[in-house]
Amino acid sequence: MDARAVFFDLDDTLYPYPPCNEAGKRAALETARDLGYEFDREEFDAFYRAGRRATKHELSGTASSHERFLYFKRAVDEHAGTHRAGDARALGEAYWSAFVDAMEPFDGVDETLAGLREADLTVAVVSNLTTRVQLTKLDALEIGEYLDHVLTSQELVREKPSAGMFTNPMARLDLRPGEVLMVGNDPVNDVEGANAVGMETALFNCDQTDLEDHRQPDHRLDSLSDVLEVVA
Ligand SMILES: [Mg+2]
Repeated sequence: MDARAVFFDLDDTLYPYPPCNEAGKRAALETARDLGYEFDREEFDAFYRAGRRATKHELSGTASSHERFLYFKRAVDEHAGTHRAGDARALGEAYWSAFVDAMEPFDGVDETLAGLREADLTVAVVSNLTTRVQLTKLDALEIGEYLDHVLTSQELVREKPSAGMFTNPMARLDLRPGEVLMVGNDPVNDVEGANAVGMETALFNCDQTDLEDHRQPDHRLDSLSDVLEVVA
């Protein structure tokens, strides 16, 4: 393709998400026990799920729907019948701190981003979550120097797959849809959203095969560095 830019999703596209989420939960469970909550892992998981469910129920489709401080705040509210603000903050901090410590980029991230820079392509990260957390993750991955632009869904009203998450950075970077390759792991948020605005799409780190037409990517990547061939 005649690409001038590549937009990347962040979570589970530039680093594997599940081990970080697990590390975060384990650290939050330890902190909960230190705070006097007598949870085994199963009880903690139920506590976490309750907070997550309450948060998603009210905030689905917004950046805050992924914010663990809110999950823990709602979970503590429900569990204790009162806010216990310090506990919610300590649990959220334990979660995010262990999450970020566990982050390792996927193989080929540096090589890919360096190659795109070398080829003079514009690179952006376009991600659904709150800004502070996503900026911390980008720091942990040490890839800030390769990025021309970062957009989190907290900066707009609606999240991917809504069109604004793609058209806003295109306008900002003076790009047309046909000039941009969107790379992500989610057939809905990343592929369907970018397809809908006319971008070329590449699916990475996703095994789903029975995708509906509008969620079909133009490319499937076995390795992130395959991006360099797609845009060559
Ligand atoms: Mg993702």
